Parts: sequence; structure tokens; C-alpha cells
Amino acid sequence: MEATPTAIRNCPDKGYLEIDWNNGRTITYLYEDLRVLCPCADCRAHAPAKVITGKEDVKITHIELAGNYAIRLEFDDGHGTGLYTFTQMYDGEFNR
Ligand SMILES: [Zn+2]
Repeated sequence: MEATPTAIRNCPDKGYLEIDWNNGRTITYLYEDLRVLCPCADCRAHAPAKVITGKEDVKITHIELAGNYAIRLEFDDGHGTGLYTFTQMYDGEFNR
């Protein structure tokens, strides 16, 4: 069974996103980790990877589903091109 979110909660007072998955698990994702590990082409174009720092206070301002396989997140630093696939999120690729 593919991991699919059943609920996505933005918790700015705690600084994280919380996702309920269809198998009953709940996983939290720190804004900072999501931003620093952004999977978009621009952030990943640098070998081995661009080092992004100074995002301790970043917030997520917008969340939208991209098809039925990913979530697109917009951050308050103006960055919003990263597509976070359900598989990568469930597998912990955005948790440091
Ligand atoms: Zn990016």
C-alpha cells in the first residue's frame, strides 16, 4: 500500500508540519528540515547539494497537493518550488 496522507496539519506555534498517514502513523516534520532539505532542482543542482543555512525561523505559508503523489510547500522566505513526494516524506528523507 502506498503511503498517503489522510490529514496534514500546519502547526506554526510548534514550528512543524504534522501528517497523519493512511496506515495510522503520525509523523512530524520540522519547517527548518523541510526547507534545508528542499528537493527542488535549484536546491539540488549543486553538487553534492547546496548547503542552506539560517532557516531556523522559517515558516510554511502555503500547502497544496500536487496531483496524488506529492505536497508543494511555500515558505515565508519566498521559496516554493519544492515537491515533497509522499514516498520521500514517509521514508523520512526530510527528517534530519
Ligand atoms: Zn528548493
